[in-house]
Formats: sequence, C-alpha cells, structure tokens
Amino acid sequence: MAGERGLALVVRQPGEVGLEERDVPRPGPGEVLIRPTMVGLCGTDLDIVAGRIDPAYIRYPLVLGHEWSGTVAERPGPGADAPAGEGLTSGTRVVGEGIVPCGHCPRCRAGQTNLCLTYDELGFTRDGAAAQFVVVQRSLVHPLAPGIGAEDAALAEPASVVYRGLSGAAIAPGWRSLVVGDGTVALLAVRLLQLWSPAETVMLGQREGQAALAAEAGAARFETDGRAAGAGYDLVVEAAGSTDAVLSAFAAARRGGTVVLLGLPPPAPDTTWSWKRRAAPTRCCRHSPPPAGAAPSCCSACRRTAPPRRSPSTTSSTTT
Ligand SMILES: [Zn+2]
Ligand SMILES: [Zn+2]
Repeated sequence: MAGERGLALVVRQPGEVGLEERDVPRPGPGEVLIRPTMVGLCGTDLDIVAGRIDPAYIRYPLVLGHEWSGTVAERPGPGADAPAGEGLTSGTRVVGEGIVPCGHCPRCRAGQTNLCLTYDELGFTRDGAAAQFVVVQRSLVHPLAPGIGAEDAALAEPASVVYRGLSGAAIAPGWRSLVVGDGTVALLAVRLLQLWSPAETVMLGQREGQAALAAEAGAARFETDGRAAGAGYDLVVEAAGSTDAVLSAFAAARRGGTVVLLGLPPPAPDTTWSWKRRAAPTRCCRHSPPPAGAAPSCCSACRRTAPPRRSPSTTSSTTT
C-alpha cells in the first residue's frame, strides 16, 4: 500500500466539496486500514457541506462518510487491546463505529461511548469513509456475518442510532406509534419499532413519494397532514431534525405519552425552544492548539503521539 494514492470526497470548507487525490493513510498502532465498499450520504452530510453544523463538532477540511461498510485492506498490526477487532484479516468484511471514544471519561466508563466527553468522529472531526481507504481504530471495527450485504451493512450506523433511542424509551407492546419524518432515519424507526409489536405505526412526512417506502417499512398509514395523522399516540418518534417536527411530535402524543427525539434540529432563536442548551464538547487540540510546550492529549488521535496523561479531564458534555 506504501506510496499508493487514492481518491477521497473532501469538504475543504463550507460550500467547497470535491474529489481529491490523497496518499493512502497509514494505520497507527491498534488501527486498521479499510477499503470502503459502500458509503451512505445523509442529511447531516449535506449540512456539513453547507456549513450548518455547530463548529464545535466539525473540523474542515474533512473526508465525508460516517455510514459505511468495507473490507480490511491490510492485516492489522500489533497494537492496543481490541477484542472487537480480533480475528480481522485482509479481506474481512466489516463495519465500524463512527465515534472514537476516549475510553476513560465517565460516559465512556458507563458504556455510553457515543456520549464521550471528548467529541471525535469519523466524517466530522477526522477523515471519514468516502474515500478509497479509511483508517479506523481496531476496537471500533466489527466483522460482518455472512450473508449481510454491503449496502445493508452501510445502514448499521444510522440503524444503531435509532435502535439505541428506541430501546431507551421503555416501549410496551400494543402501543400506537407515530413517526414524524420520512427520511432514512424515520424509515428505520418505523422498521425497528416493529420489534416492539405496536398496535399500529403511522408515518407523518412531507414527501408523498415516500409513501411506498413507508408501507414497505411497516407503516400502516403515511400522511403528509398532521390533522390526518391524528393525535393521542402512546409513542411519537421525531426523526426529521426540524423544530416544526419536534413541535408536531409533542402535539401528537397522548397525555403521559412518550416522545423520542432522534433528529438534530438546527438552532431556532425565534422559538421558545433552545437546541443550543447542550454545552459544547471538549475541543480537540487540533481545533485549538495547546499552549506552547503542552503535550497534545485531548483525544485518541492526539494521544497516539503524546505521553499518557495522569488523570482524565472532563469539562463539558455532548450528544450526537
Ligand atoms: Zn448520518
Ligand atoms: Zn470518553
């Protein structure tokens, strides 16, 4: 692989995206070089291109791609303990987790690595998989079971997000459910909700053209009018990422009902809702260089080149 170059889909800065020829990245200790097979581009990617993402969660220039599947290009070398990556060999078909957790903050120790206090994610703050090669920490790489197609596997990341949200909502069988939104995350929500045997699942979207996909995912009805969708639902899942969708979700829930917010609505200063209440994440020193002489140690990528720190630092929180 040495000396080889490959194309990558790079957002150089907001509004400027294109294919770029780059050196094949070299995996460090405990990392795996992967050749992506299938990469999804979602609404968040469009927000990255347009510059609509909170700057605390992004580092330009970047290679897009946080939903992907691929094959191991090189047998991983020796490195950090990584049970999830055991058994990887050249040609193993895999998926990878996007968020690179620090492994020692309170959220990581609680098993909520998606909420790691140091935010670091493929396709956001480090190069993603929309390229001929991507480097991923071995512990975040999971081999695919035989028979799982590369296209289905590329949906593992958004499906995990949806499943995680739903499984935390104490859903009971027989609930009437409404999903607000009609994109991939909303369709995955309709599909995965069937695991809880709902009495019915209705989808409230905006694009009539999504009706057939909604039915295929398991929706009993697809509506584009909130009044037609009705109210009094035991469970409402917001999966559109807009302030209007959040308001519709609360309006459609019954008294005592459950609302799950999966989307990431943009800041909306003109409403009573404030989506900016989350504190900004700990910034990686690649965003803000550390003071002269200080060792970079704020994220896993930086720690590769820095001596181990004595105690973890925790300053703020984030969700994605
Ligand atoms: Zn996405
Ligand atoms: Zn952490």
